[in-house]
Amino acid sequence: MRTRQQAEELARSIPIMPFVDGQWLDQQNPQSFPVIDPTTEKTLTGVAETGDAGVDCAVSAARRALDTGSWGRLDGAARGQLLNMLADLIEQRAEDFADLECLDVGKPAIEPRVIDLPQTIATLRHFAGWADKIEGRTIPTPGHMGQPTLSYTVRQPIGVVAAITPWNSPTMIGSWKLAPALAAGCPVILKPPEDAPLTSLLLAELVVQAGFPAGALAVLPGRGATTGTALVQHPGVDKISFTGSPETGQIVAAAAARGFRPTTLELGGKSPQIVFADADLEAAADGVALGVFANQGEVCAAGSRILVDRSVHDEFVELLANRAGKVVVGDPFEPGTTMGALINAKQRARVQGYIDRGREEGAHPVIGGGRSEHDVGYFVEPTLFTAATNEMTIAREEIFGPVGAIIAFDDVDRAVAIANDSRYALAATVWTRELSRAHDIARRIQAGAVAINGWSPLDPRLPWGGSKHSGLGRELGRAGIDENTEEKTITIVL
Ligand code: NAD
Repeated sequence: MRTRQQAEELARSIPIMPFVDGQWLDQQNPQSFPVIDPTTEKTLTGVAETGDAGVDCAVSAARRALDTGSWGRLDGAARGQLLNMLADLIEQRAEDFADLECLDVGKPAIEPRVIDLPQTIATLRHFAGWADKIEGRTIPTPGHMGQPTLSYTVRQPIGVVAAITPWNSPTMIGSWKLAPALAAGCPVILKPPEDAPLTSLLLAELVVQAGFPAGALAVLPGRGATTGTALVQHPGVDKISFTGSPETGQIVAAAAARGFRPTTLELGGKSPQIVFADADLEAAADGVALGVFANQGEVCAAGSRILVDRSVHDEFVELLANRAGKVVVGDPFEPGTTMGALINAKQRARVQGYIDRGREEGAHPVIGGGRSEHDVGYFVEPTLFTAATNEMTIAREEIFGPVGAIIAFDDVDRAVAIANDSRYALAATVWTRELSRAHDIARRIQAGAVAINGWSPLDPRLPWGGSKHSGLGRELGRAGIDENTEEKTITIVL
């Protein structure tokens, strides 16, 4: 691991312009925006924003790559080799990616090293394996007008995919989008988050080294209102894969609907973690703390509603508060730091506002709840509220910060009712030793993923996504291939 100063030098060495058609695009008089380090509040670098002409250029290059270029002619095995090569190159530069992610996002050094980078590499390798296994079906029919027929289907790339990512884990979430799309043969245009674009620009460099043909992957830095809008409204884009807030998801879905374009939406969450009296309470306290505090709580699946059986409530709160008290908030580059800064001043003010609201509405902070002692950096104290109800703002709205609301329940049905009383349905955890109850609740809970006695394990083989305001469609696993291909039926009259 580098020192902070060395990491800042690395950040300044990253190309700061759009990557289009296999090269860096030198735009005429581009707008630029600063990339701020959330720990020091200093500008790390300035990035040239992709204008309308750059977006147009990227879409044309992607279309050419698919329709007439060498990308469209590559077979699945060759695409798989390229994805494996890209995974190898990222693995060789994993430390660079990790340091940039710590600087850009503010996450502690350990997290990209144990989560984001291993998951990114595993995702690329998983989908490298899919690339030559995308198959159609042969479907028996009685024939047509007395004549026998043979009908079969082929799965073809869905077309040019626009991938839009959020700032909390840009490398990993970027890989969730580009790996399945590239495996399926789709060219991808990646619009990384304006607050944390650096690792996506480093990725563009490696795409060239891996040998991807021009146009297979473009990276367009820029703000959502400008570059993002131009990309989702571009008629040459065939599919949009978006991860971000429900509010932006609605805008993206409306733009997609105007062109009847399929969309995958991975949006927010307000995930319940349900702790029963018979659970291993020590293990549950470890898992629940991870679920609410990992990545400063800036996790879509953050388990920010903690539902606890009233009979063990006080004991469990003590165990959990004990874990929360050991969280070390500080500079991601300092050894021992376990929680970094939030992404920007706006996010800190938002999270702090929710903490104030929790207190005003009658919840009691057992830990945290005040202002951070750091004068510089967008830090927030890890906070746990007891005496919360599911009607309070802190239990209803996604906070996207290190804040948990602890709600007591009296029986199983009430726990399920509280868990499902949310506009979100992304993830949930259930802590109990009684297996039949765990499976029963897993079926009844509205969520795309339920973890029993653990916190939502990430794995590229497992489908990921939610319903209600948490999104539409699934990423990863087989779903990743299905959502990036179209099944075409071919019938021959024999
Ligand atoms: P955001 O919606 O503000 O931005 C997400 C991306 O969309 C950014 O790249 C942004 O530039 C772009 N964007 C903004 N406006 C746009 C527009 N009009 N048209 C096109 N693109 C536009 O979200 P954020 O603040 O970056 O991320 C936090 C949100 O993301 C949270 O709600 C969180 O739950 C969600 N999230 C979900 C998942 C998941 O897998 N479900 C994962 C991570 C984050």
